[in-house]
Amino acid sequence: MSTVTKKSSKTSSQAYDASLDELIEKDSVVTQRGRLPKPEKVDKDSRILWEYVIPVVVMHLLIPLAFLPYFFSWWGVLFMPIGNYIFTSLGIGAGYHRLLTHRGFTCPRWLEYTLSTLGVCSLQDSPARWVLVHRVHHQHSDHQPDPHTPRVSCFWAHMGWLFIDNRELSTAAAYDKYVRDLMRDGYYRWLQRGINWVLVYVYHAIAIVAVGAAVGWLWTGTTAGTLQTAGQFAMWGVVMRTVFTWHVTWGINSFSHMWGYRNYQTREDSRNNWLFALLTNGEGWHNNHHADPRSAQHGHRWWEIDLTYLSLLALEKVGLVKDLVRPNHSALERKSVA
Ligand SMILES: [Zn+2]
Ligand SMILES: [Zn+2]
Repeated sequence: MSTVTKKSSKTSSQAYDASLDELIEKDSVVTQRGRLPKPEKVDKDSRILWEYVIPVVVMHLLIPLAFLPYFFSWWGVLFMPIGNYIFTSLGIGAGYHRLLTHRGFTCPRWLEYTLSTLGVCSLQDSPARWVLVHRVHHQHSDHQPDPHTPRVSCFWAHMGWLFIDNRELSTAAAYDKYVRDLMRDGYYRWLQRGINWVLVYVYHAIAIVAVGAAVGWLWTGTTAGTLQTAGQFAMWGVVMRTVFTWHVTWGINSFSHMWGYRNYQTREDSRNNWLFALLTNGEGWHNNHHADPRSAQHGHRWWEIDLTYLSLLALEKVGLVKDLVRPNHSALERKSVA
């Protein structure tokens, strides 16, 4: 079973390599400096995506509640780094980004689905949609039609692009061109259908609140204590953790294309931003990543800490991760600005 899984994932990885490399090769536009308009397919006919606007606004409006004495607890604050690591570094960083988008390693199918599902629990879109947007970003980084370049505006790159329909990204042709590998997979097709991926997020939120209720009951033995602990889990384990991880992930699209240093000469504005590298456990070494997108290792210098990659190394040691793509040093040497 595991041999079959490994073989098929390797085949899909090779199919992906050829197609994405070809897409990137075709984009030979010389880097232009200065501002850009919004992508062409975002215009006055574009629909405002209220299904994105409303949850994002509501989650932000809930933030002050988390600091009321009833909901606040210091152990609740611990959910931020722990939840950030589990759901966002493993789910988005390792799962959506380094595995599904760039095929930087292979692993058993059950582990791939686990990482992807943790990504779904970060409420950052379905795997197919996220990967599609990110592959378009790599193809056209900071050029038209990059979906989220800060050359439009910092706010646009950070979150504005999420709220208006970019018709270029929502056609069946776009899914066929950019994420054919994922759309061939039954699980990713199912998540893509209707609001299935949102339901997975809702179920995980219910599970966290239920654990909170159980802890509250065991700890206090009272209904009031059970309700309060469930509320604290909801507020810190779901709301605050989700909003925090939204902003640190979005910060890669905005701040890591604006501020930071560059190890490599690349054809976009990517930067290594240490703050967002620490907040995302490695994704902020974004100039390194644009210089060598296949590499699963984003921190290239000894002090560029990349906890997500270290986690993949640990999984490789125990045999769960294979074909872990390391930096291509000879190619990177030619791009080095040192
Ligand atoms: Zn980028
Ligand atoms: Zn990438």
